[in-house]
Amino acid sequence: MAEKKQITMDDIRAQVHTYLNEPSNLELIEHAAAFAEKRHEHQKRKSGEPYFVHLMNVAYILAELHTGPETVAAGFLHDTIEDTGITKEELAKEFNPDIAEIVESVTKIGALKLNNMDEKEYQASNHRKIFIAMAKDIRVILVKLADRLHNMRTLQFKSEASQKRIARETLDVYAPIAHRLGISTIKNELEDLCFFYLDREEYYHVAKLVEMKKAERDESVQQMIRDISALLQEHNIEFNIFGRSKHLYSIYHKMTERNKRFDEILDLLAIRIVTKTELNCYEILGYIHANYRPIPGRLKDYIAMPKVNMYQSLHTTIIGPDGKIYEIQIRTEEMDDIAEKGIAAHWKYKEGTNYNSRREQKEMEEKLFWFRDFVAYTGESQDASASEYMETLQRDIFEANVYVMTPRGKVIDLPNGATPIDFAYRIHTDVGNQAVGAIVNETMVPLNTELHTGDVVQIKTMKGTGPSEDWLKFVKTNQAKSRIRAYLTKKETEEKQKLVPEGERMLRDELRKRGFDPEAWMDKKKLEPLLTVLSKKTTVDLFYAIAVRSLTASQVAEKLTNQKRPVSDEELEKFINRDKRRTPSKSGVYVPGIESMKISLAQCCMPVYGDKIVGFITKGEGVKVHRADCPSLKRGPKKFIDVKWEDVNDERMFDCNLIILAKSRNFLLTDVVTAISQMKAPMVQVNANMNQETLITTIKMKVQVHNAQQVDAIAANLKKVDSILEVKRDSN
Ligand code: MN
Repeated sequence: MAEKKQITMDDIRAQVHTYLNEPSNLELIEHAAAFAEKRHEHQKRKSGEPYFVHLMNVAYILAELHTGPETVAAGFLHDTIEDTGITKEELAKEFNPDIAEIVESVTKIGALKLNNMDEKEYQASNHRKIFIAMAKDIRVILVKLADRLHNMRTLQFKSEASQKRIARETLDVYAPIAHRLGISTIKNELEDLCFFYLDREEYYHVAKLVEMKKAERDESVQQMIRDISALLQEHNIEFNIFGRSKHLYSIYHKMTERNKRFDEILDLLAIRIVTKTELNCYEILGYIHANYRPIPGRLKDYIAMPKVNMYQSLHTTIIGPDGKIYEIQIRTEEMDDIAEKGIAAHWKYKEGTNYNSRREQKEMEEKLFWFRDFVAYTGESQDASASEYMETLQRDIFEANVYVMTPRGKVIDLPNGATPIDFAYRIHTDVGNQAVGAIVNETMVPLNTELHTGDVVQIKTMKGTGPSEDWLKFVKTNQAKSRIRAYLTKKETEEKQKLVPEGERMLRDELRKRGFDPEAWMDKKKLEPLLTVLSKKTTVDLFYAIAVRSLTASQVAEKLTNQKRPVSDEELEKFINRDKRRTPSKSGVYVPGIESMKISLAQCCMPVYGDKIVGFITKGEGVKVHRADCPSLKRGPKKFIDVKWEDVNDERMFDCNLIILAKSRNFLLTDVVTAISQMKAPMVQVNANMNQETLITTIKMKVQVHNAQQVDAIAANLKKVDSILEVKRDSN
């Protein structure tokens, strides 16, 4: 890390003069500088220097980025609210409302104090503030980045604990923001500084390795530059060519993340060619490929398809005459500027044009489409906890590195392993909620298919459908997760609401039966103390519990009135005969000890009377009864409940699906139908399919039966039919 030289007011003036000349702009900056110097007059930094030195440095960094005069002025003033007690209103009067607003937002980002929060929640809240401020006005984050960069440059004066904490925060939050805004100069410097403070040993290790190889590498690069220069001069193309070095943290990162040896990374020699026009870029690429051997698969055209942070360039990797490998970047001057300054280059302040901060903000949101998603997310996530919010940003926005496209060519960035559902929610919440199918590269694929860079993705939607709980198992973005959860919770609440009057009525009836006046007892004051006892949050929860029989009305009435009711003879008898004399239910199944619960037979395995069965409690659909051998029971955690068949000798019929495999032959189906009708089982549906390759016919049929023994008998009878290989119950 090179020591930065001391910045003076003259340095700032010189830097500002490279792009600002209008007297009013220069005056604004001079005024801000003089004002800040006066306000911070007696303050010193930890280094012992006057506080104003910090402000000059921040302003200088902003001027290097060619930000507008208000932003440079805000750089001088950014600590006045916090450290000199001036108010936002006073700043607005002294300068203008925009500057006051920027300074206030920068102050707010830093003003969060640790009180009752734990460290993690504190950091998350802090980060969230940064993003909310950034969503309002991008200039806030430019000032904050400049502030943080200078603080990192002077971190040696802080305690070791502070150094580590600030470096960690910078690496987790500010460097990714700089990266996402495409400001690679700031990002690279921040990363190297963080690396130095977080892991000094590794830092010096990598630095030493780089240094040792330097002379050899420089020589190769210089020779290659001479060769390529001669080649391009022949063709009369204007260009500049440089060797470039990777910053230490990126080398370290590649070594650890991609598990590469130091040699493999440093053996890549890097050259950059900057030219005039886009056409020149492709011409140069053509000449280079015609003269050197390119490594297949390494050509990247970021001109035709810019990265999400607006980066544009051609990348190729070739093998030099010396057998060494060279990474070559080719781009125009403008692209080069954007590669270094990112967003700041794109909205470089130009005097004489009508500057409008709202328009700039809006333009930026359109240009950086991830930013628009993120602004939308910031808006709708007010209820999410700060750490959840942070996690979403970290995963969905900072770590995104799969780039897929809509059929219209819009690029969507997603984290590794993302699926069409993640994509759908990125497009719009409704698209996610109503997704029913996905087409990737013109092929229909399952919704949990992993997407890859370059995939063209289209989502089929259907109105009136909703997300499935299963999606939560495979989606990767927190955005999708939180929206699916929000939808499910809303639906559950709605279903709950529907059942509440039912529970209320049941309790009312029970009280009346016990001789209490429901109006007097179902009073809020009487019900509320009961909630804690029964561990329910609200009366809605209580009535819902009664409606779905997780509490009985009788239990609740007893607790409420604090009186046990003597058991009547009738009830006693009913209890003794509880398994015998039940009123038959539609499903033919009951839950021992609980009367009239919503029970239905599962469609996947279609249990029939006599089958071994288990029940489990579903959300909103009461108890589902499955065959004990149903494969679906093994999927995911389930709340099992004991269920029994009702012993009733009625002529109840159950649907049963059978699958029959047979060698194909003439009259097969006729014989099968005959065998079934011999067993007196009505056939409801039949469907036969012959596989032309194996000549096996699969017959699927739905028959109606009284019980499991009858199913066994049907199967035995079918097996007697010539050429039938297998008969089994269907379950999927
Ligand atoms: Mn500061």
